[in-house]
Amino acid sequence: MTENKAKNSAQARQYINFIDEPFLNHQLQGPHPDPTHIRAIIARALEKKPLTVEETAILVKTTKPELVEEIFAAARQLKQTVYGNRIVLFAPLYIGNYCVNDCQYCGFRRSNSDAVRRTLSPGEVINQVKALEDKGHKRLILVFGEHPAYGAEFIADTVRRVYAVQSGHGEIRRVNINAAPLDVDEYKIVKQAGIGTYQVFQETYHRGTYADYHPQNTPKGDYDYRLHGLSRAFEAGIDDMGIGVLFGLYDWRFEVLALVKHALFLQDVFGVGPHTVSFPRLKEASGVSIDNRYLVSDDEFKRIIAILRLAIPYTGLILTARENADIRRACMSFGVSQIDAGSRIELGGYTEAGDAQVQVTEKEQFQLGDLRSLDDVMRELLEDGYIPSFCTACYRIGRTGEHFMEFAIPGFIKRYCTPNALMTLMEYLVDYASPKTRAAGLALIAKELDAMEDSPLKTQLEERLAKIQSEDKRDFYF
Ligand code: SAM
Ligand code: SF4
Repeated sequence: MTENKAKNSAQARQYINFIDEPFLNHQLQGPHPDPTHIRAIIARALEKKPLTVEETAILVKTTKPELVEEIFAAARQLKQTVYGNRIVLFAPLYIGNYCVNDCQYCGFRRSNSDAVRRTLSPGEVINQVKALEDKGHKRLILVFGEHPAYGAEFIADTVRRVYAVQSGHGEIRRVNINAAPLDVDEYKIVKQAGIGTYQVFQETYHRGTYADYHPQNTPKGDYDYRLHGLSRAFEAGIDDMGIGVLFGLYDWRFEVLALVKHALFLQDVFGVGPHTVSFPRLKEASGVSIDNRYLVSDDEFKRIIAILRLAIPYTGLILTARENADIRRACMSFGVSQIDAGSRIELGGYTEAGDAQVQVTEKEQFQLGDLRSLDDVMRELLEDGYIPSFCTACYRIGRTGEHFMEFAIPGFIKRYCTPNALMTLMEYLVDYASPKTRAAGLALIAKELDAMEDSPLKTQLEERLAKIQSEDKRDFYF
């Protein structure tokens, strides 16, 4: 094959329709799977092997309570071996809610005349970031409606502006993006600003449902353009991508298989799977009447998370404050590895609403379920034995994409992730925590150090922790 032909065929593969609906539907048919088969798949997952769509379907079709329990137990075990007890924390920052689309579930849709439209000015962005830094945040995700005003240059400028803000001990060390999918050249512009993950949720992988919720005469009405949004990102050199489904639009069982298929497709074609998967559940939003046919119950939601944990072991699972504190707490033990905290989704909400946690739905995209402050969430995590982490080391050292060996290198978590998490936690405790949270955090750090074998790494870690406490030194990482 000539070089050009090879290139063309690789490009063609990037843009094939990899969601084969009849195939996915077929996988969901048939009787309850045989327990031996289910257990064999669970055993394979515990070897940290990504599951096929067919194998995932067997777990999706498992409904007998004792076998579902085995799925949860395995997910718990896998989560502990792959991720340890770290939970990564971030906050969303809504930049603008003008939108040319008309997604029927979203408060920002163009036909919603109740929405209060606003784009943060550069000065307002800086003030929001300062407010977030003053609470202790180091990782943000910037959220944009889809509008000509929010083109690639605007997104890139906003990212640069966020990185430039410094308040007290604070600086934002990683900026992720949730925005409309772009063209290849546009992604290149955004990449240059130094973004972390670029997230695009397909919302639903089911074409008919997609058409029902996203009018054809809007940019988002083009299912295929969105489906290949992250393939174009990869072509532009972005190898850190987030996929997602808005659960509640269509049958969750189909969507789970499609999500796994998308992850396998990215891994197969680009050699890099998605960095994260998000699974928002449909929430009430301004002027939206929810069709409850496909709403996902709490029990189903937990099953979704456990199955995803087993099927795509190396992909971070994000659970946002759309969900209430109890569900979030439950799901951390068997799947979720990243959460937001202290989140405000109204434009300007980090400064303008003060500490009064209010819900003003017509100003927001949808309603939040967990309105606790970052400090309260941190304390609960610590009391439950988790290490809240603000670590951004891998992304800053360039350990991303196919070179991202976090999970492939034996001992990587012990060598890098846990020490880095403990150092970012210590920064938080010294600079931002309430006395109660500080006490809980210092106790957890002492416990983690006790459990570590003596080594040069442990000595270095202890020295660095001491420097953070007494010498005002910050931003260490391994
Ligand atoms: N405009 C961009 C887009 O649509 O991709 C990015 C921003 S959009 C505000 C971010 C995500 O919010 C959407 O992808 C969708 O999954 C989610 N969302 C929209 N309406 C929602 C609702 N009522 N409940 C829960 N999540 C919702
Ligand atoms: Fe606009 Fe995104 Fe909301 Fe759709 S989901 S209306 S594209 S902000």
